[in-house]
Amino acid sequence: MDLSFTDEQQRFREYTREFLDNEVVAHRAEWDRAESVDTAVIPKLGEMGFFGLTIPEEYGGLGGDYITYCIGMEELGRADSAVRGIVSVSMGLVGKVILSHGTEEQKQQWLPRIATGEVLACFGLTEPDTGSDAGNLRTRAVREGNEYVLNGQKMFITNATWADLCLVFARTGGPGPKGVSAFLVPTSSSGFQAREIKGKLGLRGQATGEISLTDVRVPASARLGEEGQGFTIAMQSLDKGRVSVGAGCAGIILGCLETVVEYATQRHQFGRPLASFQLIQDMIADISVELDAARLLVYRAAGLIERGEPFGVAASKAKYFASEAAVRAANSAIQIFGGYGYIDEYPVQKYLRDARVMTLYEGTSQIQKLLIGRAETGVSAFL
Ligand code: FAD
Repeated sequence: MDLSFTDEQQRFREYTREFLDNEVVAHRAEWDRAESVDTAVIPKLGEMGFFGLTIPEEYGGLGGDYITYCIGMEELGRADSAVRGIVSVSMGLVGKVILSHGTEEQKQQWLPRIATGEVLACFGLTEPDTGSDAGNLRTRAVREGNEYVLNGQKMFITNATWADLCLVFARTGGPGPKGVSAFLVPTSSSGFQAREIKGKLGLRGQATGEISLTDVRVPASARLGEEGQGFTIAMQSLDKGRVSVGAGCAGIILGCLETVVEYATQRHQFGRPLASFQLIQDMIADISVELDAARLLVYRAAGLIERGEPFGVAASKAKYFASEAAVRAANSAIQIFGGYGYIDEYPVQKYLRDARVMTLYEGTSQIQKLLIGRAETGVSAFL
């Protein structure tokens, strides 16, 4: 396993960090309080190439490799996970499945504008009554001549109220995963409505929403892949997405480590810096080891993707470990900051609130364990 970065990847990390420190880190507390990023940052992220990192140059992207993509996600996670989610859903979950499953016409229609951030996309899988059990989703798409008519509801959809395009998973066939198809639905379609869900614990800077589809008509050419292929498309997309979430979590742990080291060396109690106390070093050592472990799992999975090898279980391990480790790191970071860790003058409380959702979305920690357990035992815990 070669887990070293190339000079180009290192340079990418450096200039990405400089940009994010100026354009995101400087504003994240204010955006978190306002429950919205300043959306003017989205075109700036586009200019920096974030939305096109792994989209090939022929479709207007940078054509980068998956390791570079994970470096970008790690740096975005260190800066602000709310911003990372905006990028990773639009390009990572939606852009990449258009690339892998879209017709040439669909690629030409959407990818060049997703790659620049001009078009923001959202991923509509979860519904009010089906989350982990996404294969039993209820939104329906009925074929009428050369069109499909969509009716149903989606829940907790990142970018919902800002997006121009929604990848909607809907039932075209019988019950279960095999009856699901995927559709590229412009959010300007008549009958498409999105409502923002306010009051989230974390990721407050991004717009999470509820979507209702009432007799939304799309041409048959808006179907992505074949009828009945939708669930497979969703799972393939989430497998890669989990590596990206893991990378974002490594970024949270990195942010915690940098922040606590700086604080613990400056803050004095009992006439000595906090860093000199062994119980403080114990917590810092755990954060440091978990950062290494999270990165090793993430970049191993990214390497498997890059080499075209099976990566699903490695992705689940990376996502499960890194998200739980990010929660532990942020919790310890608050402990090291004492009372100051509990107020939003310092970023550690935000790291904890943001990290918490990473153990829930794109497959909860329990679901990741069931996927890992199935791979180990050969026995599925899913019906
Ligand atoms: P449930 O599935 O109801 O789970 C509740 C609990 O039961 C969990 O602890 C779960 O682990 C456990 N559980 C469920 N089944 C099993 C089982 N078989 N064995 C053991 N335990 C089990 N979805 C999208 O489609 N697109 C998005 O962009 C998106 N963004 C999101 C952003 C945010 C901020 C949030 C909070 C959610 C987002 N989601 C999105 C939805 C997210 O993926 C779901 O919340 C997640 O999959 C869990 O589904 P659920 O909330 O319905 O919980």
